[in-house]
Amino acid sequence: MFQNLPLLKPDALMLVSQRFRADPREHKLDLGVGVYRDADGNASILQTIKQAEAKLLEQQMSKAYLPADGDKDFVRLMRQMVLGNDAPALADHRVAAAQCPGGTGSLHQAMALLKKAGNAPVVWVGTPTWPNHIPMLQHHRFEIRTYDYFDLATQSLQFDRMMSALGEAKAGDVVLLHGVCHNPTGADLDQSQWAALTNLVEARSLVPLFDFAYQGFGQGSHEDATGVRMMAERLPEMLIAASCSKSFGLYRERTGILLVLCENSAQATATTGALQTLARVNFSNPPAHGAELVRIILSDAGLTEQWATELQQMRERVGEIRTALVAEAEEQSLDIGYVATQTGLFTTFALSEDQTSRLADEHAIHMPGTGRINMSGLSLADLPGFVTALKETGLD
Ligand code: PMP
Repeated sequence: MFQNLPLLKPDALMLVSQRFRADPREHKLDLGVGVYRDADGNASILQTIKQAEAKLLEQQMSKAYLPADGDKDFVRLMRQMVLGNDAPALADHRVAAAQCPGGTGSLHQAMALLKKAGNAPVVWVGTPTWPNHIPMLQHHRFEIRTYDYFDLATQSLQFDRMMSALGEAKAGDVVLLHGVCHNPTGADLDQSQWAALTNLVEARSLVPLFDFAYQGFGQGSHEDATGVRMMAERLPEMLIAASCSKSFGLYRERTGILLVLCENSAQATATTGALQTLARVNFSNPPAHGAELVRIILSDAGLTEQWATELQQMRERVGEIRTALVAEAEEQSLDIGYVATQTGLFTTFALSEDQTSRLADEHAIHMPGTGRINMSGLSLADLPGFVTALKETGLD
């Protein structure tokens, strides 16, 4: 049965974690896996989550299944968080939505829905992108086209090239976009670029598929939704796969939501039905715990405020590390000013695999061979040594 399955290489980020754990040196850095860590290096649970868990323990009366499309209140509250309370599409009842297992599960359901809708669209993906996008699209057998998004050597967004590539896209083609805190480059579109892209997407009748995994990690919850909301106000159809993994620190609880803007409310009702059917055949119904915590937090003004403060602290710590890293690099005559203009957990340095291996071997600094680093894996005290190591390894 299984004789034809090829032996695959282990996942790159898992390898980084393994090598980090096996490194006997006392001072070592793990800049690999994409989980937020505090100034002491801990991936701790948010206080607000702990409080919501205490409430849940007290209130929860049943472990019976959730509906196939998830917890209704979670879905309602998340729809508002992503689209904004006054979103015209919500008032028009044309947003289908389903709770899904994390951002990945939401992307999976988005792709399954696009296939089920029967038009087998072409999907345009920026380069570089989150390493799971292409395998997921291949798994769903989409025809994939790429557009240039970011040039690592010059650390610059390739907006003109992106626009000219998408100028070739045909009506009904899907464009995969990162809502905010682009992974792996940290480079996002600005307001005027979002506006120009929205014009193009509208004019060519393209369908955006937003991967929205970091709302609140860039500038703030509202600011980070700029692109998503601008398009949602103008376009008849789009999909948004949103994750609660980072913004609520719920990584392993697999909490996310897929929103689908449809042309009208009748289509939204049919789409919700399709999402329920797809849930049944894929995982039956989504995991409850994380969504119940998010529901408890977002339906309580005090907890919401406290959670927003914790999210702000995470965001500000990453910003502080970015600024301090640039300042330390300047001290050591290394120009990496771009680090401070980027947002979210990641920056990708233009390092070769050989250079990242040398950082691991010679300096106990562990990162994937792509040169992507998780900024929150650094503390202020690490910065002088980190910059020296980058210089010695030949980053210029
Ligand atoms: N998209 C992007 C861009 C991500 O960075 C991640 C998480 N690394 C995901 C999706 C998946 O999120 P989740 O863990 O909620 O499945």
